[in-house]
Amino acid sequence: MDTAKTSLRKTESDPDIFFHCQHCKAALVANKSAAGMNLACQKCGQQTLVPQPEVPSTVAAEFVDEIQRKLKENESQRAEITGYINQLTIQLHRWQLRLQTLNERKAQLEKDLGGK
Ligand SMILES: [Zn+2]
Repeated sequence: MDTAKTSLRKTESDPDIFFHCQHCKAALVANKSAAGMNLACQKCGQQTLVPQPEVPSTVAAEFVDEIQRKLKENESQRAEITGYINQLTIQLHRWQLRLQTLNERKAQLEKDLGGK
């Protein structure tokens, strides 16, 4: 009972593929699970390829939106990190100047000590 319900739901969410026979152009229908396989045409009996179902345009649009959202997120993160690097580069430069000043002060003090 439960199994039957599940398989029914699966069929509903698994639309059929409508296509045409490669030989006689007859309109054919196959289950989505047959995509990419060869089936015998119901009209002429020859083997014909079941095409892949087309991706619905809404799904494709959502996919593009998702990629663009990720790109935007990536860009803002890169801008943030670039900002941190710039800030720390400035800070590093300040510390280097401060150390240079302290070194000069040390040299001066040692010179004063030696002079006495
Ligand atoms: Zn055919």
